[in-house]
Amino acid sequence: MGKTAVAVLGATGLVGRKLVAMLEGHPWFEVVALCASPRNAGKAYSDALGGRGLAGSAPPAYSKAMTLRPCEPDFEASIAFSALDSGVAGPIEEDFARAGFVVCSNARNHRLRPDVPLVIPEVNAAHLEIARLQRYGGGMIVTNPNCSTVGLALALAPVHRAFRIERAFVATLQAISGAGYPGLPALAIAGNAIPFIAGEEEKVRSETAKILGDGRRPAEIDIDVHCNRVPVANGHLINVTLELAEDPAVAELKRLWRAFAPLADLGLPSAPRYPIIVREEADRPQPALDTGANGGMSVSVGRIRRERAGVFSFSLLLDNLVRGAAGAALLNSELLQNAFLKSSRNEPDIL
Ligand code: NAP
Repeated sequence: MGKTAVAVLGATGLVGRKLVAMLEGHPWFEVVALCASPRNAGKAYSDALGGRGLAGSAPPAYSKAMTLRPCEPDFEASIAFSALDSGVAGPIEEDFARAGFVVCSNARNHRLRPDVPLVIPEVNAAHLEIARLQRYGGGMIVTNPNCSTVGLALALAPVHRAFRIERAFVATLQAISGAGYPGLPALAIAGNAIPFIAGEEEKVRSETAKILGDGRRPAEIDIDVHCNRVPVANGHLINVTLELAEDPAVAELKRLWRAFAPLADLGLPSAPRYPIIVREEADRPQPALDTGANGGMSVSVGRIRRERAGVFSFSLLLDNLVRGAAGAALLNSELLQNAFLKSSRNEPDIL
C-alpha cells in the first residue's frame, strides 16, 4: 500500500521544523506540501530558513528544495499537521478540515471545544470518538495539548486511575524554545527567570482536566499551577506535588510508571515502548542530560518522594518540541491512521 500524503502548516517555525525532520523516512507518511505565511510562500524551504540559526536543525534532504505554499487547502493530501502560530491557526485549520483534511494541530485555538478531541494516545485515545460531533464533511480537527500538559497528563494518568488524585500543585521551568522562533530577546532571558507565560497556567489547568476526564466532563482535580520561563534552550522541567485519595508506597508509584505501556501492541512508528522513564539518581532528570530520551518521545520522572500520608512529590522532564509538540501531533496522526486501517479491515476501531 502507498504512503499517505501529508502536509505541514507552519513548516518554518520551531515545531514545524521538528515535524519536517520527524517525517523524514516515515514508514506511513510522505510529505507532499510545506506551507508557511505569505511572507515565505513561493520560496524554497531551505532559503526561507536561511537566516534562522538553530543548532542541529538542518532541514532534511527531501525538504530543502520544496517550494513553500501558502496555507490554503488547494492541493491533494489526507493529513495536515498544524504548527501554526495561534494568531492565525483557528480559521486556517477549519479551512483545511472543510476541504476534507484530517488536521492534527499543535495550536491552542480548538483544543477546548467539546467536539474536538484533545488527545495523548497513551492516556485518552478513546476521546477521538468526539470528533464524530464535528461537521466538516470528511475532514476533522484533532489536537494535542500544550507542551507542559503533555508531560504532566502522561505522568498523572496512571496515578489518577490507580489512586485518584484530589489535588495537584505544579511549578514549571520552561525552556526558551517553547516560545517559538525567534522567541524572547536574549537580554530578557539570559541569566534571568520570568515567573509569567501568558495564558500558560490556564492551559495547563484546563487541558489536563479535559484529558483526564471522561470525554464529556473534565476530571475533578484541583490543579494549582505556576509557569516560569528559564534560560534553558530545550526541555521543560516540571515540579509536581500530588494529594491522593490513597497512600501508596513510593515503590508502587514507580512500578506503575515503569509498567505504563498502553500502546505497546499497536505498532505506531513514533510510539516509545515505555513513555515514562523513572530515574533513581538524586539529581535527575535534567534538561541537558535527559531531554532526548527515546528520541524525545519519553518523559522522565525522578526525585519521587513521600511528603506525608497520601502526598507525593516528583520532578518531570519532557522534550517540549518533540513529545510536547511535533511528536505529539505525529503520534495522534499515527493513532488515527491505525484506527482507519483497522476499520477498513472491519476490525473493531477507535473512531
Ligand atoms: P513559531 O516558531 O513562531 O512558528 C510559527 C509558524 O506559523 C511559522 O511557520 C510561521 O510562518 C507561521 N505563520 C505565522 N503567521 C502566519 C500567517 N499569517 N499565515 C500562515 N502561517 C503563519 O512557533 P512554534 O513554537 O513552532 O509553535 C507553533 C504552534 O505550536 C503554536 O501554536 C504554539 O503555541 C504551539 N506549540 C509550541 C510548542 C513549543 O515548544 N514551541 C509546544 C506546543 C505547542 P513564517 O515563518 O512564514 O512566518
